[in-house]
Amino acid sequence: MPSDAARPWGVRTALTLDVDWAPDHAIEHVAELLIERGVAATWFLTHMSPAIERLRRWPGLFELGIHPNFLPGSTHGSTPEAVLAHCTALVPEAQSMRSHGLVQSSRLLSLVRASTAIGIDASLFLPRARHLQVIDYPLESGMLRRVPYLWEDDAEMYRPLPDWGVASIAARACGLAVFCFHPIHVLLNSADMAAYRRLGVAGTAAQARQLRHHGDGAGSAFIALLDALAGERAAKISELALGPAGAGFGVGTRSTAAAA
Ligand SMILES: [Zn+2]
Repeated sequence: MPSDAARPWGVRTALTLDVDWAPDHAIEHVAELLIERGVAATWFLTHMSPAIERLRRWPGLFELGIHPNFLPGSTHGSTPEAVLAHCTALVPEAQSMRSHGLVQSSRLLSLVRASTAIGIDASLFLPRARHLQVIDYPLESGMLRRVPYLWEDDAEMYRPLPDWGVASIAARACGLAVFCFHPIHVLLNSADMAAYRRLGVAGTAAQARQLRHHGDGAGSAFIALLDALAGERAAKISELALGPAGAGFGVGTRSTAAAA
């Protein structure tokens, strides 16, 4: 257990999940791991499904944000406005977002702030940065609070020498330690993209079991991090952004956006 009384790292550690249209059996696999250990997480959703609806039964553990796809050919919509309208209709309670593919621009983020209740963005990826903090980004439409993150499962696969010891990465961080996993990579325990490409979006649970990687990978990293966090206080993204009380910062509501 890497924490100590002087550095309760659980309080600045957050798990996030980019759902990326994962099948329900992958979502359920990840949700069960989190529920079993009582570890909180923030899910950035691309779609709605029965498994995702079931996440709403655990409001103490799970926070739901959006994962809008602004890339060409998006099934969320053909314009940024349409994408945001689609995603916020799926998750009306969302306070936070991470864009799919990390697509972003100041104009796009200003549109988010002006047209939605999203006050927190988690689309800044700074791999293994040790001194991350919450920052406020002044935009024409108002202030957007940004929560950067330092680790993502697929980025680790692209390293010449992947290090799946994510609990030690969290312990080395001096600031925020926000992690991004994809449910399908946790399910497949991916160490590279091969199994994911073979499974495809329509792959069944049985096929996923056959393709599951043995050894270190995204799944073993996820479980190791959960075990390190069990009994600690993993934060949801809104808690990192707004503080435990979630009040006093004036973001996350449409009315404050309009007043800004
Ligand atoms: Zn994505």
